Amino acid sequence: MKIHFCTQCGSDDIQYRSPEGDSYRRYICEACGFIHYQNPNIVAGCLVEHEGKVLLCKRSIEPRKGLWTLPAGFMENHETILEAARRETWEEARARVNTPQLYSIFNLPHINQVYVMYYGKLSGDSFAPGPESEEVLLLDIEDIPWDKLAFATIRETLKLYVKDREAGRIRLHSGDIIRPWVLRDPTNAQLKNLVTR
Ligand code: ZN
Repeated sequence: MKIHFCTQCGSDDIQYRSPEGDSYRRYICEACGFIHYQNPNIVAGCLVEHEGKVLLCKRSIEPRKGLWTLPAGFMENHETILEAARRETWEEARARVNTPQLYSIFNLPHINQVYVMYYGKLSGDSFAPGPESEEVLLLDIEDIPWDKLAFATIRETLKLYVKDREAGRIRLHSGDIIRPWVLRDPTNAQLKNLVTR
């Protein structure tokens, strides 16, 4: 993201250059010296299971409105990753999760994001659409709408989950979601460097 004005002093004298001793170029305010570091964002969410079914949300907002996703969203400051995953699950699916366990970690270097998903059982049996969801459903694995999923990360997480279910064991997965720049479809990405434990 290009910086036009200093977030500290408001000056528009911003240069894109390497600070002394740094090998990366940064937006530096020449008026007050402030360096605008930019780093990846963390997205956290939950794969919620109930009686063999998985909780999916139909998005009511852009991007990818009308497509299906697992509840997930950007981590806030002063929050842990697990707190973010629980909060997003509540906000999007009005669901609580019992004893969530770390499930998948995906790097998305082309959009500067890291996805961290937890797995857990639905607490109680209540869920409902939050403001960002049009519909929330518990779906059998056979009914997962593979061609109507919103994001590659969600598709890859669900694919791993289906495999884990077949193997009878929920495991921990990490990998990289790589998308060629020439392809603009956000679901057109591939999982590489998968490590499963
Ligand atoms: Zn400044």
